[in-house]
Amino acid sequence: MKLVLATSNKGKVREIKALCEDYEVIPYSELMEEFEIIEDGDSFKENALIKARAVFKALNDENIIVLADDSGISVDILDGKPGIYSARHAGKDADDKDNLYKLIEDIKAKGVKSSPAHYTAAIAIVTKKGEYCVHGWMYGTALSESVGDGGFGYDPMFIPLGFDKTLGELDDEVKKKLSHRSKALSLAKYILKTL
Ligand code: IMP
Repeated sequence: MKLVLATSNKGKVREIKALCEDYEVIPYSELMEEFEIIEDGDSFKENALIKARAVFKALNDENIIVLADDSGISVDILDGKPGIYSARHAGKDADDKDNLYKLIEDIKAKGVKSSPAHYTAAIAIVTKKGEYCVHGWMYGTALSESVGDGGFGYDPMFIPLGFDKTLGELDDEVKKKLSHRSKALSLAKYILKTL
């Protein structure tokens, strides 16, 4: 089965491909020119559906299945921020490193070295048969420092529950087993089997 991904985020594409080995996973940017999608929903679910619908409509092919991932990190000491704004935490044109260091500074500014935090992933599926959305979460601790260079995004500052190293230091296989994305995709696979 062919799955078109409504993202070109390299970290997400790499992880989704590794988690969906039984599918042919194609970022939409390989099928058409990338375009701006305004993510103006107020939840991960709404933004995932906005992305999947936009790409399904733009590709204009009834037979495709589009899958979108909207995800982010929520830090307790920051009242759940940046949450759905994780990709723009350091500003509109911020990259992963800008966002990582801004979040580190925000935690430091609270006078603590760490805080409970969690990642959320909403996976939306849009096909001619209908629209679906599932979620997954990964709980742990956000640090006020960056350790290791594995993973992507906020991974070097995040220690998953039950571990004493960041996702920047841990093997990819660890994240593959317990991440928000892998949990959401396990549910998404039940839906894909019915399509
Ligand atoms: P989105 O593309 O709008 O969903 O933005 C997601 C934001 O959350 C980006 O800044 C990502 O780097 C970050 N993010 C999402 N999932 C992960 C993850 O698994 N590890 C690290 N950062 C993540």
